[in-house]
Amino acid sequence: MPVTYVLAKEFNVAANIIRAQVAPNQIGKLVVELSGDIDQLDAAIEWMRSRHVNVSYTLGEIAIDEDVCVHCGLCTGVCPTEALTLHPETYKLMFTRSRCIVCEQCIPTCPVQAISTNL
Ligand code: SF4
Ligand code: SF4
Repeated sequence: MPVTYVLAKEFNVAANIIRAQVAPNQIGKLVVELSGDIDQLDAAIEWMRSRHVNVSYTLGEIAIDEDVCVHCGLCTGVCPTEALTLHPETYKLMFTRSRCIVCEQCIPTCPVQAISTNL
Protein backbone atom coordinates (compact mmCIF):
# COMPACT_ATOMS: atom_id res chain seq x y z
CA MET A 1 0.00 0.00 0.00
CA PRO A 2 1.52 3.38 -1.01
CA VAL A 3 0.93 4.97 2.39
CA THR A 4 3.00 8.12 1.99
CA TYR A 5 1.50 8.74 -1.46
CA VAL A 6 -2.03 8.58 -0.05
CA LEU A 7 -1.07 10.84 2.87
CA ALA A 8 0.13 13.48 0.42
CA LYS A 9 -2.64 13.11 -2.17
CA GLU A 10 -5.70 12.58 0.03
CA PHE A 11 -4.76 14.46 3.20
CA ASN A 12 -2.14 16.98 2.09
CA VAL A 13 0.18 15.56 4.77
CA ALA A 14 3.90 15.50 4.05
CA ALA A 15 5.79 12.45 5.31
CA ASN A 16 9.51 12.86 5.83
CA ILE A 17 10.86 9.32 6.06
CA ILE A 18 13.55 9.14 8.72
CA ARG A 19 14.05 5.38 8.67
CA ALA A 20 12.49 2.52 6.74
CA GLN A 21 12.63 -1.22 7.19
CA VAL A 22 10.28 -2.63 4.59
CA ALA A 23 10.49 -5.98 2.85
CA PRO A 24 7.94 -7.24 0.28
CA ASN A 25 5.12 -9.30 1.84
CA GLN A 26 6.49 -8.77 5.32
CA ILE A 27 5.76 -6.42 8.19
CA GLY A 28 7.70 -3.18 7.80
CA LYS A 29 8.53 -0.29 10.07
CA LEU A 30 8.75 3.36 9.10
CA VAL A 31 9.91 6.23 11.28
CA VAL A 32 8.38 9.35 9.76
CA GLU A 33 7.96 12.98 10.58
CA LEU A 34 4.48 14.11 9.52
CA SER A 35 3.58 17.72 8.84
CA GLY A 36 0.31 19.29 7.80
CA ASP A 37 -2.92 20.76 9.11
CA ILE A 38 -3.75 19.26 12.53
CA ASP A 39 -7.22 18.08 11.46
CA GLN A 40 -5.76 16.52 8.33
CA LEU A 41 -3.06 14.84 10.42
CA ASP A 42 -5.70 13.32 12.70
CA ALA A 43 -7.69 12.15 9.66
CA ALA A 44 -4.55 10.70 8.06
CA ILE A 45 -3.65 8.77 11.21
CA GLU A 46 -7.22 7.50 11.49
CA TRP A 47 -7.07 6.37 7.86
CA MET A 48 -3.79 4.51 8.46
CA ARG A 49 -5.24 2.75 11.50
CA SER A 50 -8.35 1.81 9.47
CA ARG A 51 -5.94 0.12 7.02
CA HIS A 52 -4.30 -1.84 9.86
CA VAL A 53 -1.18 0.31 9.94
CA ASN A 54 0.03 0.42 13.54
CA VAL A 55 0.72 4.06 14.39
CA SER A 56 2.61 5.07 17.52
CA TYR A 57 4.34 8.23 18.64
CA THR A 58 7.99 8.32 19.63
CA LEU A 59 7.85 8.89 23.35
CA GLY A 60 11.06 7.09 24.16
CA GLU A 61 14.50 8.51 24.69
CA ILE A 62 18.00 7.64 23.63
CA ALA A 63 20.59 6.99 26.33
CA ILE A 64 24.36 7.02 25.87
CA ASP A 65 26.38 5.07 28.42
CA GLU A 66 29.33 7.38 29.03
CA ASP A 67 31.26 4.63 30.81
CA VAL A 68 31.14 2.49 27.67
CA CYS A 69 31.44 5.07 24.85
CA VAL A 70 34.93 5.26 23.35
CA HIS A 71 34.18 8.45 21.33
CA CYS A 72 34.86 6.81 17.99
CA GLY A 73 32.31 9.08 16.29
CA LEU A 74 30.70 6.37 14.16
CA CYS A 75 27.23 7.24 15.42
CA THR A 76 27.58 10.87 14.34
CA GLY A 77 27.76 9.79 10.70
CA VAL A 78 24.26 8.32 10.68
CA CYS A 79 22.45 10.84 12.87
CA PRO A 80 20.09 12.79 10.56
CA THR A 81 19.55 15.70 12.93
CA GLU A 82 23.10 16.28 14.23
CA ALA A 83 21.97 15.36 17.72
CA LEU A 84 25.23 13.43 17.91
CA THR A 85 28.40 15.35 17.14
CA LEU A 86 32.03 15.30 18.15
CA HIS A 87 33.39 18.29 20.04
CA PRO A 88 35.63 20.15 17.58
CA GLU A 89 38.53 20.41 20.04
CA THR A 90 38.26 17.48 22.43
CA TYR A 91 36.75 15.02 19.91
CA LYS A 92 34.44 13.80 22.67
CA LEU A 93 30.93 12.72 21.76
CA MET A 94 28.27 15.33 22.44
CA PHE A 95 24.56 14.47 22.56
CA THR A 96 22.01 17.26 22.10
CA ARG A 97 18.85 15.59 23.35
CA SER A 98 16.54 18.34 22.06
CA ARG A 99 17.61 17.51 18.48
CA CYS A 100 17.05 13.76 18.80
CA ILE A 101 13.98 12.36 17.01
CA VAL A 102 14.55 8.83 18.37
CA CYS A 103 14.96 7.33 14.90
CA GLU A 104 17.29 4.69 16.46
CA GLN A 105 19.70 4.76 13.50
CA CYS A 106 22.65 5.29 15.80
CA ILE A 107 22.02 2.19 17.93
CA PRO A 108 23.29 -0.50 15.53
CA THR A 109 26.27 1.59 14.44
CA CYS A 110 27.88 1.67 17.87
CA PRO A 111 30.61 -0.98 18.08
CA VAL A 112 30.52 -1.13 21.87
CA GLN A 113 26.72 -1.00 22.36
CA ALA A 114 26.86 2.26 24.28
CA ILE A 115 23.55 3.51 22.86
CA SER A 116 20.14 2.24 23.94
CA THR A 117 16.52 3.30 23.96
CA ASN A 118 13.64 2.75 26.34
CA LEU A 119 11.13 2.38 23.48
S1 SF4 B 1 18.11 8.28 17.64
FE1 SF4 B 1 20.32 8.53 17.35
S2 SF4 B 1 20.57 8.86 15.14
FE2 SF4 B 1 18.40 9.21 15.60
S3 SF4 B 1 18.25 11.41 15.94
FE3 SF4 B 1 18.55 10.45 17.96
S4 SF4 B 1 20.76 10.51 18.29
FE4 SF4 B 1 20.42 10.88 16.09
S1 SF4 C 1 29.42 4.91 18.10
FE1 SF4 C 1 29.28 4.35 20.28
S2 SF4 C 1 31.39 4.43 21.03
FE2 SF4 C 1 31.36 5.53 19.08
S3 SF4 C 1 31.02 7.68 19.67
FE3 SF4 C 1 28.98 6.80 19.26
S4 SF4 C 1 28.25 6.08 21.27
FE4 SF4 C 1 30.46 6.41 21.46
